[in-house]
Amino acid sequence: MGKKKHGKSGVGSKPPEWRPDEFTRARIERLRAEGAPHEEVLRAGLHALGAPEMPPDLLRELAGMMRNAKSGEEFADSIFIGDCPFCGFEKATNCEDEPGIENPMVGYCPACKALFCSECRTRMTREKSECANPDCWFNAPEGTPYPGSEHFRDD
Ligand SMILES: [Zn+2]
Ligand SMILES: [Zn+2]
Repeated sequence: MGKKKHGKSGVGSKPPEWRPDEFTRARIERLRAEGAPHEEVLRAGLHALGAPEMPPDLLRELAGMMRNAKSGEEFADSIFIGDCPFCGFEKATNCEDEPGIENPMVGYCPACKALFCSECRTRMTREKSECANPDCWFNAPEGTPYPGSEHFRDD
């Protein structure tokens, strides 16, 4: 299997962007509509994220998270964004479609209106929707492996 390339090279501190194509989104939605088993939907979801096959244990664990998701987007948010680090609200979303931010790696909490870094949970503001934490992976030099990603390498 080939390596997945994230983002463009040479853009320094810009976080990598995750943009599933329309086909992938549609596929996840269709599986859901058909009432496919969660694991199956999950597989499609992970494929959409460019993830290789997961160990069955991890798959089951993730499938548990999936049960609460109403759409592929919600599921992706539950993985990439997670709960609001400030008020604990469980359905924080990403800011891919948020005017002026348009960054899927920025989390937004509809409950307390917080903006935060999806990686290190540092609070952000609308004026400065970049992670200010120097230790955050988003601010690491280009090519720094994602922490824990060695488990998923296939080379
Ligand atoms: Zn919140
Ligand atoms: Zn961060």
